[in-house]
Amino acid sequence: MADDSIQPAELRREDVLTVDDDHFTTDSVAIVTGGGSGIGRATAVALAANGLTVVATDLDEEGLAGTVETAEECEVEGTVETVAGNLTDDDDIERIVAESAEFGQIRYLANIAGLQHIDPLPEFPMEKYDLMHQVMLRAPFYLSKLVMPHIEDTDDQVGAIGNMASIHGHIATQDKAGYITSKFGLRGLTQSIAAEGAGTLRAFTISTGYVKTPLVTDQIPDTAAERGISEREVVEDVMLGDAMVKEMMEPVEVANLFVLGFSKHGRHLDGGDLTWDGGHLTTY
Ligand code: NAD
Repeated sequence: MADDSIQPAELRREDVLTVDDDHFTTDSVAIVTGGGSGIGRATAVALAANGLTVVATDLDEEGLAGTVETAEECEVEGTVETVAGNLTDDDDIERIVAESAEFGQIRYLANIAGLQHIDPLPEFPMEKYDLMHQVMLRAPFYLSKLVMPHIEDTDDQVGAIGNMASIHGHIATQDKAGYITSKFGLRGLTQSIAAEGAGTLRAFTISTGYVKTPLVTDQIPDTAAERGISEREVVEDVMLGDAMVKEMMEPVEVANLFVLGFSKHGRHLDGGDLTWDGGHLTTY
């Protein structure tokens, strides 16, 4: 399907926000989870385009290879290394951080990996709840716990942890209780990191509405068929009905928020949230 209101545009170097920052060099490592697809892929490429050594991690090895290819096509100044792993496995989490440290000084962590499951609360499968909690809350907690000492070990203790939340980290809708619970929790984790980070080791969340990634676009044809409406109507009326900006975001637009948050221009962003929601939470 070629509808560009739904399918993401090809990631181009000129769409990446580039910041001149003394810490954005290949000596600095940024770990990006979910780096094999969607927002994680775009973030890995955008951070590498800003000169960093990025370690993209994901379950999906083919996806990771696609991220390296995209970075090459964008002729990034930094590099994208890959470490495959499952964020439900503590040994993998420890290995991801240990291997990342071999590439340089870990200063940045982007917790992006995630998944969705739709069911009413009384029917919500507990194994799905546990999986969502493990990937979207426990793994960010454990990765942060392991990465914070690396940032504290640097000459100036400058670094940041960016956590991918959602408008569903602020408001609730039906049938997404597992996701919403994890995303609300992620904001608590973020504020806890800020409280312990002494102001130079910062943390922030990013909360967006709908972004053109497989997590969302895969659901659109089914929703259209179920409701007997067009795919464009699903986007404009169902997904973006409560937003003022009637377009889904591109993954690179979210990636640029990680660049901003990690950079010197994010210096006063500590525990806070970048709410890029097209007016969804602020208007009605
Ligand atoms: P995506 O499906 O394109 O990417 C998610 C990635 O996470 C996949 O590559 C997947 O393999 C990886 N992953 C899942 N479980 C894993 C595990 N156990 N171990 C390692 N990796 C695992 O989805 P996306 O839209 O890019 O989502 C990224 C994040 O953004 C998620 O946390 C999601 O909740 C959040 N988010 C997405 C949207 C949106 O509209 N797409 C909006 C707000 C927030």
